[in-house]
This record gives sequence, C-alpha cells and structure tokens, in this order.
Amino acid sequence: MVHRRFPVLLATLLTTALHSPSVATAQPARIALPTLDSAQLIRDLFALADDSMEGRRVGTRGGARARTYLLARLKQIGLQPLGDSVSAPFKSAGRGSTETNGTNLLAVVRGTREPDRYIVVSAHYDHVGVRNGQVYPGADDNASGTSSVLAIAAWLTAHPPAHSVIIALWDGEESGLLGARAFLAPPPVPLEKIIANVNLDMVGRNAKGELYVAGGAPQPSMQSLIDATVGVAPVKLIPGHDTGTGQDNWTNQSDQGAFQAKGIPWVYFGVEDHPDYHQPTDVPHRIEPGFFFRCATTVAEFVRRLDAAPPRRPTS
Ligand SMILES: [Zn+2]
Repeated sequence: MVHRRFPVLLATLLTTALHSPSVATAQPARIALPTLDSAQLIRDLFALADDSMEGRRVGTRGGARARTYLLARLKQIGLQPLGDSVSAPFKSAGRGSTETNGTNLLAVVRGTREPDRYIVVSAHYDHVGVRNGQVYPGADDNASGTSSVLAIAAWLTAHPPAHSVIIALWDGEESGLLGARAFLAPPPVPLEKIIANVNLDMVGRNAKGELYVAGGAPQPSMQSLIDATVGVAPVKLIPGHDTGTGQDNWTNQSDQGAFQAKGIPWVYFGVEDHPDYHQPTDVPHRIEPGFFFRCATTVAEFVRRLDAAPPRRPTS
C-alpha cells in the first residue's frame, strides 16, 4: 500500500452490519473452493520477505533478487510469458525528478473459450527497501499478495480458465503505482479486452480475521460477484473502502487505481492497516498462516466466479 490508512469510518461499520446477518446464517459452504498449495504459499512468503531480499525496493539489488526468485517460480508453475519475455522493464519519472527503472513480471494462463479476453490478477512485489540500515521486509506488504498470486496462478494452470488470465507482479508500487501505470501506457493487450483487474495488497494478517473487498459500490457490475463471494468466503469478507473521499477510500491506494484511471473494472482485496504497516516489524513470523491461506483461497474463488460469469463492460 502506498499511504497510511485512517481507521474504519461509520460507512464501513454500516456495511459490516448489513452483511453480518447473511454471514451468520449462511449454510456451511458445500461448494468446492479452489484448493491452493498452502505449504508453497508460506514458503514463497518467507522467501520474498527474507532479509536477503533487502526490502525489495524498486531499482535495487534486493528487488532484483526478488525478481530472480519470482521468475524461477513462474517457470516452475509452467506459465508462458505474456510478451516476448516475462520481464517487462519500464522507466518512470516517479516522485520527484529522478528516473526510476522498474521491472514488471507478466505471464499468462491462456483461456480455453475466450483467449482474447483477459482478467488481470495482480500484486506488487516491491516494498520500501532498507532505511537507516534496517531492512523493511514487507511480509504483509506485499509478499503476501505476491505469494497469493503465484498460488492462484498454479491453481489456474491446473484448472484452465475460460478467459485468459494475465498474472502480473508489479514493481514500483510504493513509489506511486509505477508498475501498473507502465503496464497500461500502452497496455500489451487492447484496453477493451481487459475484463477486470483483481488486485491483492496485504492479505496476510488481521487481528479480527477480516478481509476487505473494494470495488462493488462504485461498480454495480461487480457487486453481485462480490456478494456471491461473500456468501462462500472462508474468511469474514467485508465489502467497503470504495466510496467517499480521503484515505478511507482505497481506490487509489494500490495498483487498482491505475486501472480505475483508465476506466477498466477492478476489484481490490486487502486488510486494514496494522501497527507493523511500513515498519521493519512487518516480518514473516507475524503473518497468520491460516488467515493468509483463507484470504488467498477467497480471491481464487472470486477469480473463478469472474471467469465463469464476467460482467459486461458498462461502455462496450
Ligand atoms: Zn506499502
């Protein structure tokens, strides 16, 4: 995430109250949720948040090490590059006047029925690096989302989707959503062929076991898919943080903001901030493995439903 968030506002509390009854009275889920590899999910998180990755700041040795690890994992999963190569370098002005060199990693799972329409499942792999000699491991932000995307990619490879799914691991998010913006300027596939972006940023821990899903309120086409996922999610999935002004609205707080700016539908999954947010203490052993696994499974289920019944683009 880019910015510190403020605590929950009344709107969120109301949303929670409105959705709680259905959660409480829901029948035990009898549907088969996607079965992700929980051991690999945790291994990937620990590897990415290891001190040797030096906080994965864009343009650093640590960022390059993370990329080497991720490239090997994407190859192991058996994914094809989206373009000529999985590595998609970019230059960006970033904040201030210094130019930033970043590298997105872009792979694809080809769709079986509509291979020319795309769902973009994404997470940023960069974090804030080393400050005053201290490594900021970014275990939750966002080794958790990155590892989840790998797990979802592996599941999709074994259960081929109808539409193509672009697996996007962004660089430079912490410097202003640089990777996602570079992806869209210009995009490697026509904008109108992108069904939606599903972005994950911080899905590894929450004291209350709550995961937020943003995007439903401003995008009615997404609301029914979100509601259906709430009904079967193995975590307390709460729609919200997608209306109003200020930092309680998370629309532009992570890479989905770049898609919103281009008029592409998006959905964002993430948790409330915790005291270790953007601190050296955002370490792997503070991740809650059970919650983390259930969050990744929840997003995989949302992607499965989105692929099965993608909403119509409002303007197409
Ligand atoms: Zn962050």
